[in-house]
Amino acid sequence: MGSDKQIPMASRRWPGVDPARSRVMSLVRGKNTSIEITVRSLIHRLGYRYALHRKDLPGTPDIVFPSRRKAIFVHGCYWHGHSDPQCRRARLPKTRTEFWTDKIKRNAERDRATERSLRDAGWGIMVIWECETPVSHKDVLTKRVIKFLEDADLTPVKKRLAHAKQEGCTCAGGPVGNVRRRAIRD
Ligand SMILES: [Zn+2]
Repeated sequence: MGSDKQIPMASRRWPGVDPARSRVMSLVRGKNTSIEITVRSLIHRLGYRYALHRKDLPGTPDIVFPSRRKAIFVHGCYWHGHSDPQCRRARLPKTRTEFWTDKIKRNAERDRATERSLRDAGWGIMVIWECETPVSHKDVLTKRVIKFLEDADLTPVKKRLAHAKQEGCTCAGGPVGNVRRRAIRD
């Protein structure tokens, strides 16, 4: 009984997928995946500190920088439907293709809606795809992350300043001076 619970019935859950692949897919879908941990340690080594999986934000972003009002999503290419034609990790299983196309399309649509609501609330968003995380891509990824975190001219920051100037703003950023100081910190 207990052991049945541990081993998911891959054929039922994910039609047309062999059990070995379904195990990989289970892993890639969850939080704290190895790609996410790779990204986290890269960012940590750069000296940035962050919060994880903030449930109070749309889409529960994987890595959150509250004082910068920025968030990073680390997406598995397969589940989130990476549309880059160069990406070889987003390939669909050869059987039941229609089922997979629908499922992944829905995931991708949900991602876009999440990003929209965060941007509307003044958050800066960066998506890091699984295929960008191998060691060979480290330098490129590092530059992207720094640019994203240090760019205080991003629209969301301006929106945030405008928001903080409004009378009665009680959001976490506090008064305007505080927001500015945070935006240029480090
Ligand atoms: Zn990809």
